[in-house]
Amino acid sequence: MSDFDVAVIGLGAMGSAAIAHLAERGIRAIGFEAKFPAHGLGSSHGDTRLIRLGYFEDPAYVPLLHRAYANWRALEAASGAELLTVSGILQIGRPDSGIVAGTIASCELHGLPHEVLDAAAMARRFPAMRLEPDEVAVLEPQGGFLRPEAAVTAHLKVAVGAGAVLRLGEKVTAIEPDDAGVTIETEHSRVRARKVIVATGPWIADLVPALVGIAQPIRQVVAWYTPDDAITTLGPMLPFLLDEAEGGSFFGVPALGPDGLKVGKHAHFMEPIDPDQPNPQVNDADLAMLDDFVTRRIPVATGHRRAAITCRYTMLPGEDFLLDHLPGEPRIVVASPCSGHGFKFASVVGEILADLATEGGTALPIGAFSFAALDAKRG
Ligand SMILES: Cc1cc2nc3c(=O)[nH]c(=O)nc-3n(C[C@H](O)[C@H](O)[C@H](O)COP(=O)(O)OP(=O)(O)OC[C@H]3O[C@@H](n4cnc5c(N)ncnc54)[C@H](O)[C@@H]3O)c2cc1C
Repeated sequence: MSDFDVAVIGLGAMGSAAIAHLAERGIRAIGFEAKFPAHGLGSSHGDTRLIRLGYFEDPAYVPLLHRAYANWRALEAASGAELLTVSGILQIGRPDSGIVAGTIASCELHGLPHEVLDAAAMARRFPAMRLEPDEVAVLEPQGGFLRPEAAVTAHLKVAVGAGAVLRLGEKVTAIEPDDAGVTIETEHSRVRARKVIVATGPWIADLVPALVGIAQPIRQVVAWYTPDDAITTLGPMLPFLLDEAEGGSFFGVPALGPDGLKVGKHAHFMEPIDPDQPNPQVNDADLAMLDDFVTRRIPVATGHRRAAITCRYTMLPGEDFLLDHLPGEPRIVVASPCSGHGFKFASVVGEILADLATEGGTALPIGAFSFAALDAKRG
């Protein structure tokens, strides 16, 4: 007999959500985390993560986002933690840019409230930000931000409260499926479970060799600026995405506290990294790029950088998700780290992973996130 029904490996955004959903269903679940929850070498730390409904990447994500919002609110109720702030979000660029055109298309298709502001209206309402005369902003009132460290902690609190076992600081070294279940080998022990969910973020390919050379961790840098001006605080300023076409997409969160305004560029310089090495230091080129953006777009913050950190995205082809059983292996469920835009979905990804591990499938729309779809994207 197995010691547990389901073992979850990796307790970042995705694994912590999965084990919470499993435990709430009365499933005997155990979670392994090599380090500690929301640590600085994973992808689920750094104060804030943006969330929005009008998904420019693909309107097909919107039903999952509705479910994610509901699940975040349910997690707040269950844990007592404040996790989701709905403040509104600005998605900025030229009208034909991917972010603006895609957000409007997504909002129109799904009947989501939104407002399009031209550069003059933006200057009046959000004076910290500078737009080019031919740019617009889509203001989506349902957008906002999540608190990643608190969200991971809340999911784990719910999981433990419902009877899950957590092994923190215990790295899984191998998973061996057989006819009766799966043996999970760790640095310290060996555990049997009927099913296993692998949600190991940048290290996903260590336990899922099928993803070697496909799931690519890259270096990401974010910086904080503390201008002495209230127009960069939440309210006078909103969280934003800004599409500079060939210059890339930037994101930011207004000052929420003493750390100030946070700014980054999606996928940064697309530099591959080895997840087993310490994060490479922030360098002059990183800072020059972010400072240049701030000088052009949020000039009041120029010269007020106070901190910058390196962290990790893990990219898949098509910048998409992978949520599926390992082909030919119904005992192993794989959850990819979601290509730099997955945090907002973690609350529903946890539900999906629990469905896959316990029911063998899910009613939620994840057809685009299968191994077969991944193969098709790789051409
Ligand atoms: C700077 C930055 C900004 C982002 N902004 C946004 C945003 O605004 N909105 C959004 O939706 N998303 C955003 N993302 C993406 C989002 O944060 C990630 O998609 C998400 O956090 C990935 O979570 P994860 O659980 O897959 O990985 P992780 O959080 O990295 O968790 C994986 C865990 O597995 C553990 N582990 C690894 N190997 C083993 C092993 N062998 N045994 C046991 N444990 C193991 C690791 O220690 C780690 O804790 C951003 C990411 C970054 C880095």
